[in-house]
Amino acid sequence: MAEQYDFDLFVIGAGSGGVRASRVAGSLGARVAVAEEHYLGGTCVNVGCIPKKLLVYAAEFSDAFEDAAGFGWSVGERSFDWRRLIANKNEEILRLNGIYEGLLLQAGVRIFPRRATIVDAHTIECAGARYSTKYILIATGGWPMMPRIPGAELAITSNEAFFLERMPERVTIVGGGYIGVEFAGIFHGLGAQVTLVHRGKIFLRGFDDDLRTALAAEMRKRGIDLRFECRVARIERSASPDAGGAGVRVILDDGTAHESSLIMFATGRAANTRGLGCERVDLMLDAAGGVVVDNYSRSSVENIYAVGDVTNRITLTPVAIAEGRAVAETLFGKRAMRVDHANVASAVFSQPPLATVGLTESEAREKFGAVDIYKSEFRPLMHTLSGRGERTFMKLVVDRANDRVVGCHMVGAAAAEIVQGLAIAIQCGATKAQFDATIGIHPTAAEEFVTMREKASP
Ligand code: NDP
Repeated sequence: MAEQYDFDLFVIGAGSGGVRASRVAGSLGARVAVAEEHYLGGTCVNVGCIPKKLLVYAAEFSDAFEDAAGFGWSVGERSFDWRRLIANKNEEILRLNGIYEGLLLQAGVRIFPRRATIVDAHTIECAGARYSTKYILIATGGWPMMPRIPGAELAITSNEAFFLERMPERVTIVGGGYIGVEFAGIFHGLGAQVTLVHRGKIFLRGFDDDLRTALAAEMRKRGIDLRFECRVARIERSASPDAGGAGVRVILDDGTAHESSLIMFATGRAANTRGLGCERVDLMLDAAGGVVVDNYSRSSVENIYAVGDVTNRITLTPVAIAEGRAVAETLFGKRAMRVDHANVASAVFSQPPLATVGLTESEAREKFGAVDIYKSEFRPLMHTLSGRGERTFMKLVVDRANDRVVGCHMVGAAAAEIVQGLAIAIQCGATKAQFDATIGIHPTAAEEFVTMREKASP
């Protein structure tokens, strides 16, 4: 390898993408360094996917307690201890941080627990020293953004939500994306009164319209106050704080106002490129500050690559991991490797969860013209006894010209687990006839995806 440099690869950021690239490069014999100013594992492990899912599990116990009665159980008095949940969650995250460190060290990667900046295309400054490197990988992720409105300093983002001192009684969430919808469910499930404010006609832009409508109906049934087509005009300190002494007054642009213990903005995330030294190497950034890269994650500078959220492609952990691995294989393996960004499945861990892979109905109509739509809506077996009025909704989008299933969408229990399996079929180009020829597992909700016979009328 290139001994004229201190390192073959200097990775900035030890999140999902950076860690995977470092480990693979290290195992391929490269001399690798990774710098991380916050926490090993990045957003996903520390203030994202993992702690979020743990909070989702916590929130869903309230449903389980309620649903148990219909099955003959009497559930005694119950109480919830936010501090215990957060302490246990923190302990688990600490364990994961340690595992990440171990994996990096095992792969021979040198870890700098510091901020690193680019000095020139082959020089990194970190911890007061300069290091030369053949390649640089930018994997600095993203950071929550907040619109500039009066009183925004009284609001928090998801970063802080994971470490609150106490469980808020009334929560206002701004933003109708993944984070806003998931945290609305978390706080509601844990007992808070929740209002979600979204500027659009309906939340979850980019998802199939039927899914958006189905989930909004389910959330409203549960008592979450969804306020669409409105924005927060300003935030003031509350004159009547809650029992914990916290509180804000949220003034909306429709003229209404309400009191809240907590206001959280989930209005998107921005690529972390500021202060990185991009201008020193003339690195091309997009309008939102993301690093512009080609199909191999190579930036406008020949030896500088970027992966994950900082590239503003698909900002999901598994995508960053795949991109990180591909860069390491391309640079130090025996083959150039690129990531296929089509048919990436994703889920929103709401109650009930929502999951999707492939094209929405409107995307498919635009792309193929003639499409066939299959839909199913039903009461899950579990709720025939629980008495809960929750419905499950499923939808397949089929390209009429060749019978291929190009989109698969679901709102309902276990949606993420079910759609992950179906994503393989979609990736393989399965046809509707092949779905139909598959025999279901009975009784499941998932079997509905292989028994949809009636086309929905357009
Ligand atoms: P998203 O981009 O998904 O959603 C942002 C939301 O905020 C949208 O509803 C957007 O509205 C709204 N918004 C943006 N700017 C403003 C503004 N100035 N005023 C009012 N509303 C505004 O971002 P998130 O923060 O929810 O999540 C970031 C990313 O992290 C996601 O896109 C996803 O890729 C990833 N993620 C994935 C998860 C998962 O896989 N389960 C979970 C959490 C995050 P509009 O639609 O009108 O633009």
